[in-house]
Amino acid sequence: HPRVTVLGSPVDKLTMDDAVSWVEKKLDEGGARQVITANPEILYEAASDGHLRQLIEEADLVTADGIGVLWAAAQGGDPLPERITGIDLMAALLNRAAQLGWPVCLLGGKPGVADEAAKRLCRQYPNLQVAFTGHGYFNDLEEQEIIRKIGERKPYLLFVGLGAPRQEYWIANLIRNHLPPKAHLVAIGIGGSLDVFAG
Ligand code: UDP
Repeated sequence: HPRVTVLGSPVDKLTMDDAVSWVEKKLDEGGARQVITANPEILYEAASDGHLRQLIEEADLVTADGIGVLWAAAQGGDPLPERITGIDLMAALLNRAAQLGWPVCLLGGKPGVADEAAKRLCRQYPNLQVAFTGHGYFNDLEEQEIIRKIGERKPYLLFVGLGAPRQEYWIANLIRNHLPPKAHLVAIGIGGSLDVFAG
């Protein structure tokens, strides 16, 4: 997809439907990919933080998460088609996951939140396969166990809600250092969305 530069970072020019199709195509092709839903806060932070900017540049897909991002792109003369928030993208992908049988993994939030979100989401999307849930307050040992389970259960979609940008660094490290290059996985940072789905 063509990209627009907002505050020095790239943002992909695409609609929600395009984003869902992109994920489907990447899961067919194989490989582990990172999606960042970029809100104004993370883009501002990246403007003065080279590491974060590099992380965004290296992500496989960056969506415009917020009206402020659309506004900035339009001001720069290269408008973005629509807003794609983490929670909306997650809902659209869960719908597709339930239809196509993609196993999903939910990680983040206080203990119990991901479990409750999974329970409610399985009611909402009856064929959804939740391969694994975990809370987001893990120690090093628990983290190793989470990474081992992700490798073993092979979710197609991994939703990580640890807050931005920590979840973005966490996903990048997982993909680069812990997954086989041929894994079929799309991982997305979703902030506090699990709290919302848990009700
Ligand atoms: N969180 C977590 N582990 C931590 C810190 C935060 O799992 O060590 C979770 C927190 O429970 C919440 C989410 O990360 O569910 C952060 O939500 P917030 O809306 O603050 O994130 P943002 O939208 O700013 O990325």
